[in-house]
Amino acid sequence: MVRIRIIGDPILRMKAKPVRIFDSSLRNLIRAMIDVMLQNDGVGLAAPQVGVGIRLFVFDDRSGAEPRAIVNPEMVEHSEDRVIGEEGCLSIPNVYAEVERYRWVRLKYRNEWGEEKEEVFEDYVARIVQHEFDHLDGVLFIDRLTEEERRILKPVLLEISKQHRGVRSWNKI
Ligand SMILES: [Zn+2]
Repeated sequence: MVRIRIIGDPILRMKAKPVRIFDSSLRNLIRAMIDVMLQNDGVGLAAPQVGVGIRLFVFDDRSGAEPRAIVNPEMVEHSEDRVIGEEGCLSIPNVYAEVERYRWVRLKYRNEWGEEKEEVFEDYVARIVQHEFDHLDGVLFIDRLTEEERRILKPVLLEISKQHRGVRSWNKI
């Protein structure tokens, strides 16, 4: 069973490493991540959020299609224009804010079988994949807010991280 890491956990700030082996343990992790994402009513979840520092995320575009995995993504192109929309994050419970993102992005990636893919993601899905892509570089959506917004949020974030600290140290034993 995988557990969602909460802000304050250092793994959320680390740069994740590329996946080299596409085996059944990778696919088991993907399945476990999709389960925990759906249980928590999320639309995206990156491997560092469950304590695994590899370049992998899963997402559910809410179109009725099966949730999917994106491995080793590279952003090869993006729109000129950006759009603003609300985001939250399973690692930062109950915090939502408006974030600016590219309207579309083109990603090169591998699927769970290691097959190379290239795909354009637009609008809502583009927002999800940009948010998850950021997680692989240790970037959280709150980093993309204005200085003023971050100043206001700071005590809230400290409180969330303090509340979860006990859980984290217990888990390390
Ligand atoms: Zn997130």
